[in-house]
Amino acid sequence: MQETSISTANLEQCLKCNLCTLVCPMLAVNEQYPGPKKAGPDGERYRIKDPEYYDYALKYCLNCKRCEVACPSGVKIGDMIQSARIRYGSQSKVRGLHGLRDWTLASTDFVGGIAASPIAPVANGVLRTGAAKAVLHGTLGVDKHRTFPKYSSKTFETWFRKEAQAGQEAFEKKVNFFHGCYANYNYPQLGKDFVKVVNAAGYGVSLLEREKCCGIALMSNGFAAKAARQGKVNLESFRKAEGPVLTVSSSCTHMMREEYPEVLGLPNEDVKDRIMLLTRWLYPRLMSGEIKLNFRKDFHMRVAYHTACHMQRMGWQQFTLEILRMIPGLELTLLEPNCCGISGTFGFKKENYPYSQKIGETLFQEIREAKAKAGDSAPFAVATECETCKWQIEMSTGIPVMNPVSIIAQALAE
Ligand code: SF4
Ligand code: SF4
Repeated sequence: MQETSISTANLEQCLKCNLCTLVCPMLAVNEQYPGPKKAGPDGERYRIKDPEYYDYALKYCLNCKRCEVACPSGVKIGDMIQSARIRYGSQSKVRGLHGLRDWTLASTDFVGGIAASPIAPVANGVLRTGAAKAVLHGTLGVDKHRTFPKYSSKTFETWFRKEAQAGQEAFEKKVNFFHGCYANYNYPQLGKDFVKVVNAAGYGVSLLEREKCCGIALMSNGFAAKAARQGKVNLESFRKAEGPVLTVSSSCTHMMREEYPEVLGLPNEDVKDRIMLLTRWLYPRLMSGEIKLNFRKDFHMRVAYHTACHMQRMGWQQFTLEILRMIPGLELTLLEPNCCGISGTFGFKKENYPYSQKIGETLFQEIREAKAKAGDSAPFAVATECETCKWQIEMSTGIPVMNPVSIIAQALAE
């Protein structure tokens, strides 16, 4: 496949220090997984000589990039493993009912386009019944313990075009919004909160000419060619749009900035610097005084911030934390940067579910303790930019998780 799989370039930079093996969450719970050093630069040397050396246990890599954060030599270990899965792992492509499951989990635009409609209340209700979960577990292999995210009966795009677009014309300056699948199909309130914050900052919001799912779930589930086609559509839209392309999801953002060129082979240098999370764009403007946000005086909330893996890889958590610290009445705790274990669609699969929960347990326990310590005098929530971390934490702890953009929106004075 010509357009994918390019990350072998810097394997020679490996110093063999083994620091990456110390931080890999999968290696800590699964002895079948070779770990980042062996699966990454060591394995790549063999695979280049002979593709038969491909190790099918690479399917366990969460693509969390924690190994890359730890590596003192800048080896793109996670990208290398993802690329190897695409390049050499095609023989291991899942077929049959598990293949159908993987396609369904990965096809967020297709499934969202059907489910985010007037049938949403029925679909949401059915998917939460024990009978439906048992059938999905026994046939497709979607773990019965997993709670599905709810679909909205109206997409964010529909709401925006009918109820918000005309009002954006009043703003002289505009930003573009890549809303992503979660805000569009599952939780349009997040998109509405984005519009509220951007408008409060004195900017209008434009949607892109065309937006496709960023493709991260397709890439992780063995549909790299389709992910690349969707990536091309998005990059074309970014090129046509003027000004920043702002986002609310750390995984989509990381995918479009880093994995498009490194794993899918889609050059993006001409637009990369314009793609960023809202908080990354907002913080320097708040600091320079170009933007002022007025916060409520009566806001009171206790927030524990979880640094999602891809957020940590981009190193942007500080921008969000500094903005949250500006909100009067918000008490902030920074959680240890532990992986929640879900890794997008990985933790939905019944063969992966036990690993997923075992990896997340340290984080879940820390969140429970943070809530107990916070007391009951104000609402408590976990904040994170990753929607799949949200699903995992809410399901595993029962504690609400909010995108920081929604917290900022709630704290704004009217
Ligand atoms: S990306 Fe995550 S799971 Fe994969 S090797 Fe690196 S640390 Fe381990
Ligand atoms: S941390 Fe980096 S340099 Fe050290 S063994 Fe892992 S890949 Fe090699």
